[in-house]
Amino acid sequence: MKRILITGGAGFLGSHLCDRFIKEGYHVIAMDNLITGDLRNIEHLFKLPNFEFYHHDVSKFIHVPGELDYILHFASPASPIDYLKIPIQTLKVGSLGIHNCLGLARVKNARVLIASTSEVYGDPLVHPQNEDYWGHVNPVGPRGVYDEAKRFQEAMTMAYNTYHGVETRIVRIFNTYGPRMRLNDGRVLPAFIGQALRGEDLTIFGDGSQTRSFCYVDDLVEGIFRLLHSDYAYPVNVGNPSEITIKDFAEEIIKLTNTTQKIVYKELPKDDPKQRQPDITRAREILGWEPKVSRQEGLKITYEYFKSLPKERLFDEAKHREF
Ligand code: UDP
Repeated sequence: MKRILITGGAGFLGSHLCDRFIKEGYHVIAMDNLITGDLRNIEHLFKLPNFEFYHHDVSKFIHVPGELDYILHFASPASPIDYLKIPIQTLKVGSLGIHNCLGLARVKNARVLIASTSEVYGDPLVHPQNEDYWGHVNPVGPRGVYDEAKRFQEAMTMAYNTYHGVETRIVRIFNTYGPRMRLNDGRVLPAFIGQALRGEDLTIFGDGSQTRSFCYVDDLVEGIFRLLHSDYAYPVNVGNPSEITIKDFAEEIIKLTNTTQKIVYKELPKDDPKQRQPDITRAREILGWEPKVSRQEGLKITYEYFKSLPKERLFDEAKHREF
């Protein structure tokens, strides 16, 4: 049985990855310090003999007994609200955290896949973004702690690949959504759906002309699964190229939820990227991958998930979490 360590295993993406690798017959070891992760995302796995959970901070020395075939480094705050509140932890998990993972990989002879992000392109001047674009990042802006940590993480990963011969893979993840997103992480989708369900107005930041391209989580997980098993060490964009303005996205959510609430406009956060769309030519060519789930289908499933949550959770969790 192949053994895989997934850091950030109790988070939104981490927990979906745990599910997928369990389904594929792996022994899964999830690690999480639960700062932004939530045990409810993986509760259903605890009864399985091929699942283990370590409550641990990957930025501190990590020890995993036994053999390891793969390490997925997915631990990190990943929304602007989170990393503004915990900037130092964000920098540490992207730097000390990946260093620990790569050190462990060397000892275990394991292959490492790191979660990088479209944020490495910053507020991009090239559109759509392909992997050869170096980006337009403000290192001292509010997003700098996340963007630079992820850029450092890519550099460290390539250095272990070339200097120590560790097998590495880098996925650049674009906006992804689905069940288990946190209601209070500040991201646009749980924000809008949560507002509609609580009977609040939908808050658009800026004039809503900025664009994003949303990928359903199952599609993302499939791309990551394929990349891990490929022999390609350079970064690969995984995301859905279907681009939409935030204004049109708000209209879609209003239609989906049948809410009678209106849209209100708030100030645009500093350095908020004006446009974002992945060029997925490389993923198509190397992984034979492209997204399959339309936004209409994916949003329906995600809405059903949020609707199924206990009412108190909709209200309690909407409050911004204090760390
Ligand atoms: N956004 C918004 N209203 C909200 C939350 C976010 O208009 O209540 C905007 C935000 O300014 C950004 C876009 O939606 O332009 C996507 O934001 P998110 O935080 O989900 O992702 P990111 O900016 O990291 O792509």
